[in-house]
Amino acid sequence: MYVILLGPPGVGKGTQGVLLADAMGWQRVVTGDLLRAAVDAGTDLGHEAQGYMSAGELVPDPLIIEMVKEKLTALPPGRGVLFDGFPRTEAQASAFGLMLQALGRTIDGVVVLEASDEVLTARIAGRRSCPSCGAVYNTVLAPPKQEGVCDNEGSQLVHRADDTAATVEHRLTVYRRETEPLIAHYEASEASVHHVQGDKRVEEVQGEVLEVLGLGT
Ligand code: AMP
Repeated sequence: MYVILLGPPGVGKGTQGVLLADAMGWQRVVTGDLLRAAVDAGTDLGHEAQGYMSAGELVPDPLIIEMVKEKLTALPPGRGVLFDGFPRTEAQASAFGLMLQALGRTIDGVVVLEASDEVLTARIAGRRSCPSCGAVYNTVLAPPKQEGVCDNEGSQLVHRADDTAATVEHRLTVYRRETEPLIAHYEASEASVHHVQGDKRVEEVQGEVLEVLGLGT
């Protein structure tokens, strides 16, 4: 199955993506993680992307499309794939459609996670993530067992440079303007689109995500 997780920053795409991919043995394609890795590695892509990311702007479509194309062709065939943070614009969605067509694949489901701006802002302020396994914590809502340390990996958790109050509001505006219209894009396509409230307990949201995708027990 190929599934897209759509939703504003802070809604829980990362958390739900890890849980869903682990439960199903799927690959994850997370453009934010790929970009952060490129920045850390100091590649040309990383240098180009860094300014946009720290300003809460989208990285230009051609860079993203090329990056995803490379990633898609390198994926082992036959496994489910979960896309988190991609596509984010109409141009990316169109290019993605063509990439999938060339691979003989289709999007089987789109899960739209939703929450109010107040919930999103609070979550992002306390968000900490593990650079090794991608696990996401919240200092208030879902703290790790030991402060600042990943329960799974023992790695030091990081606070993303773009998770500041100043940037969050802008990222939400960019989401509403550029990415939210993709819900209508996929509703008008063959893919089935499911809306799930993301402001509940992690396990509850996970149960609903599995359910709407027809993967619940
Ligand atoms: P995320 O971890 O998904 O919140 O992404 C962090 C930042 O990376 C975003 O604010 C953008 O600057 C950039 N980014 C991630 N995915 C994309 C994408 N599909 N298109 C453009 N920019 C992206």
